[in-house]
Amino acid sequence: MPVTLTWTGHATWLVETSGGTLLVDPFFDECPTSSMKAKDVRCDAILVTHGHFDHVADLVAIAKRTQAKVFCNWEIAQWLGTQGVEKVQPMNLGGSAAVPGGSAKMEMAWHSSSLPDGTYGGTPAGWLLDVGGARIYVAGDTALFSDMERIGRPHEGRGLDAAILPIGDLFTMGPDDALEAVRLLRPRIALPSHYGTWPPIAQDADAWARRVAEAGLADARVPTPGESVTVG
Ligand SMILES: [Zn+2]
Repeated sequence: MPVTLTWTGHATWLVETSGGTLLVDPFFDECPTSSMKAKDVRCDAILVTHGHFDHVADLVAIAKRTQAKVFCNWEIAQWLGTQGVEKVQPMNLGGSAAVPGGSAKMEMAWHSSSLPDGTYGGTPAGWLLDVGGARIYVAGDTALFSDMERIGRPHEGRGLDAAILPIGDLFTMGPDDALEAVRLLRPRIALPSHYGTWPPIAQDADAWARRVAEAGLADARVPTPGESVTVG
């Protein structure tokens, strides 16, 4: 079974494999562009990049309802405990954990992280997934950084099948730096994220995808909220 990546809007993705469905950064009910509501989400595990509201707004409710284990940094894990979420796997940068369908490694990200109630949210992260036979990099919210070249290096002869990159600018990389990120990561498929949700992060993702294609860097796809892309 191929791996399916579904963008539900903003920076929220569902990664479906025959081994289970991973939900990344749940933000549904208050997201103006979301394709679905939190109550309708089905998942087997939840991965969190950092603590900002546009990445965790529906985290507690979905974790409690689905009983899906949450993978996140130490500080967010502690906070989840105070919110009554019990199935949590705390991690930190450089660490890997088994997740449904394969494994997830917590990678670095240049950003900040605090939880909606002001609690310190630890170090922000990205995710390098090896699931369902595909290698998928979810950058999270980040600036461009040169370690992306390392993250994209082939592992046992396999490069990245897909890279999910913020292009919204202002709070993360914009289109120019995201283009350079594709150059460093060398994924087979490049996918834009974290844009178009509100006017300050409006971007022309199709124009960005054309630039990626014209530079011969990757197969850039631009799903609309709710649309899926098949990988592998
Ligand atoms: Zn964000």
